[in-house]
Amino acid sequence: MAAAIGIKGHCAQCDMTFELKPWQLNAIAVDIPFDCTYCHCGLQLCCHKQLRQFRALDQWALVRPSMIMLTCATLVVALVAEWLGLLSMIAQFNLSLATVLIHFLVVRYARHRQRMTLELQVISPLPVEQLARIACARLSQQ
Ligand SMILES: [Zn+2]
Repeated sequence: MAAAIGIKGHCAQCDMTFELKPWQLNAIAVDIPFDCTYCHCGLQLCCHKQLRQFRALDQWALVRPSMIMLTCATLVVALVAEWLGLLSMIAQFNLSLATVLIHFLVVRYARHRQRMTLELQVISPLPVEQLARIACARLSQQ
């Protein structure tokens, strides 16, 4: 989940929106309630649609590295094709320009999809064992 940045959570209890920390994202990923940064209410992501989007974030995080590889490969192929006389210099230039443009559009779209605000629902007061687990999760982050 390290690649997932800019994910915010909205607390249904105190109506605050805050940036989720890595340990909170981990808690959501494994379906463990955690407490709100502001009102310390127990929160959990209950919306199935958002949970599905949240789980898809890992795939979106892969878009950037794979696009970098794809773009580099295309640029090298275009360059080699020009050396071999398969492409004119103008064609090579246009192809490279289009590749770089597509690269930035795709990466931008992926980043847009990664930015989301999760609607967190309040759950009943946390049982002691869960509080202990939250404390453990917090300590392991430090
Ligand atoms: Zn709150």
